[in-house]
Amino acid sequence: MKYVGAHVSIGGGVENAPLNAREIGAKAFAMFTKNQRQWYSKPLTTDNIKLFRENMEKEGYKPEHILPHDGYLINLGHPESEKLERSRTAFLDEMQRCEQLGLPYLNFHPGSHLGQFSEEACLKTVADSVNIALSKTQNVTAVIEITAGQGNNVGYTFEHLAFIIKHVKDKSRVGVCYDTCHAFTAGYDIRTKDTFKKTFADFEKIVGFLYLKGVHLNDSKKDLNTRVDRHESIGKGFIDLDAFRFLMNDKRFDDTPLILETPNSEIWVDEIKLLYSLME
Ligand SMILES: [Zn+2]
Ligand SMILES: [Zn+2]
Repeated sequence: MKYVGAHVSIGGGVENAPLNAREIGAKAFAMFTKNQRQWYSKPLTTDNIKLFRENMEKEGYKPEHILPHDGYLINLGHPESEKLERSRTAFLDEMQRCEQLGLPYLNFHPGSHLGQFSEEACLKTVADSVNIALSKTQNVTAVIEITAGQGNNVGYTFEHLAFIIKHVKDKSRVGVCYDTCHAFTAGYDIRTKDTFKKTFADFEKIVGFLYLKGVHLNDSKKDLNTRVDRHESIGKGFIDLDAFRFLMNDKRFDDTPLILETPNSEIWVDEIKLLYSLME
């Protein structure tokens, strides 16, 4: 069974996310757990938490089909200790919010070396950051998202993801999220049957599908290997529909949240229908 949804708004409170998801016919969804552009947000109230859980139940969503996304300011691979500390504190706060909401995953972008140290040192710092957050929480898995490798961002190869996983102590609480736009502009082609097969055979060999906890379904405004992160609506970018057809008919993507982060939220209803219509 495929669980397709989108990254929905938490405007008015996190408890509105399941309602917003239901409105667009989503079977899964992503959300922020706080304002994603600020370092500090008010803690969740007992009301927020209670209503969120009630709305999840009412709308029939299971926690494992929800993929919360961390805030944009966080850099778990920051080369400067003071700023790294601030990111680690913010990340732990988000992990704890997920715990409070009963959600098992937190999706994050690995980080950026800012040109100040090597990719390897940055990736190691990310793994250390994850270890710290996992040691202070119990039920949340840190889900590393593959990046486009824009600027100084790490995490744009399967080897980078595998390196972080290797250095995370509790392997049962680390996972990965495959963003089709990021991976494509990072150089992973999935547009033909052969390239799709090859890319995911490599993924299985280097990372392993057992670590796949979510997928971001995005077309791309930029071509293969451009290392630029610009999402496009499904079927309107460089990836085109065949790739999404292969994915929707591949059992390895069953029972995992498949989340649209495409730019036009007005057509998410149609994009969800379109993706389901690709199933044979
Ligand atoms: Zn992301
Ligand atoms: Zn993404």
